[in-house]
Amino acid sequence: MFNVEDIRKDFPILSRQVNGKPLVYLDNAATSQTPQQVIDTIVDYYSNYNANIHRGVHTLSQEATDKYEQARHKIQKHFNAQFAHEIIFTSGTTHSINLVANGFSSILKKGDEIIVSALEHHSNIVPWQMLCERTGAILKVIPMNQEGELIMSEYDKLLSNKTKLVFVNHISNALGTINPIEYIIEKAHQIGAAILVDGAQASPHLKPDVQALNVDFYVASAHKMCGPTGEGMLYGKEEWLKKLPPYQGGGEMIAEVTFEKTTYAELPHKFEAGTPNICGGIAFGAAIDYINAIGFDAISKYEHELLEYATQKLIEIEGLKIYGTSKNKTSVISFNLEGIHPYDVGSILDKMGIAVRTGHHCAQPIMDYYKIPGTIRASFSFYNTKAEIDSLVAGVRKAQFMLS
Ligand code: PMP
Repeated sequence: MFNVEDIRKDFPILSRQVNGKPLVYLDNAATSQTPQQVIDTIVDYYSNYNANIHRGVHTLSQEATDKYEQARHKIQKHFNAQFAHEIIFTSGTTHSINLVANGFSSILKKGDEIIVSALEHHSNIVPWQMLCERTGAILKVIPMNQEGELIMSEYDKLLSNKTKLVFVNHISNALGTINPIEYIIEKAHQIGAAILVDGAQASPHLKPDVQALNVDFYVASAHKMCGPTGEGMLYGKEEWLKKLPPYQGGGEMIAEVTFEKTTYAELPHKFEAGTPNICGGIAFGAAIDYINAIGFDAISKYEHELLEYATQKLIEIEGLKIYGTSKNKTSVISFNLEGIHPYDVGSILDKMGIAVRTGHHCAQPIMDYYKIPGTIRASFSFYNTKAEIDSLVAGVRKAQFMLS
């Protein structure tokens, strides 16, 4: 049974004060908070079995290796990958995307086309632009509409036999729009293109099934899923991960090294050079256990209630405009107050202990589309409450009064 007050007790940070006021944390799209269960996992690792993995014969190393590989299995199960070796530990979504973009350097040729969407985070734009610079491939963009949705008829027109790769986010971090990735994946595959889905924003709100989606690559960050920062994952279909060259060279990723020739380790180690964030991987597994124990049905139902409640309350404020009005969205509200800079509103809210994000949210093309410098973004998690939304609404009204 979902009980938000019980859940909040798991998050020590939620009971702290900021600027003399109880913290109201509404910046979950940037990073989520960490439950005691995950904090305990981190403390346990460093207190009891901190050691390097995969190569030690001693007990600590074996314990750490077992826990790390168990975490990989938890992630495999969670995203429903067919094999555990299709899960590559990375430092996060950005690292995962760069790994794939680097791999495609040896696949793409001059004149090949790759397709991105207008709704992307910079980390799903810049690595592909760099790839185009290296290979001579051409970047095409699926446009968006005023509601903050991708225009699928335009996507259809971009696809051709030149298209080699499509990469879109599952959910937009700036607007909260849930993109029709089933359609996007199917269409990409019909013309033989590969597809990468950036699941950084989707993974905290729903449970992606990579086999049912039939997606080639799916990427996510632990820190948006109640896990630690600097940790994430890349899911890749086995056939693709075998085809792509390694990203970084070093220890752990080799089979044999001589000065004449080096051969690479089997998956997943081929992509995991050097000592990884061992504790981070294990804590990622603990975070997945934690959110699954609450359950994604309960999470999405409750977060949707918060979204509806907040939207209703915020639109009652005169001069407030919400960006991203798709019916298909998660618990993210991006908005501005007429004639007021978002940064000023964010600063006043902070004085009241309310944490929101202001700015372009690493999605400048979206801001350019709306011709605005940025927005105020409130993003809700399953541990937020309606009372906190009331505080936000009161804070926004107060900021409007002070700044008008
Ligand atoms: N993609 C999206 C949609 C995101 O929201 C983010 C984080 N804001 C990223 C990519 C980058 O994630 P990270 O910084 O964890 O690598």
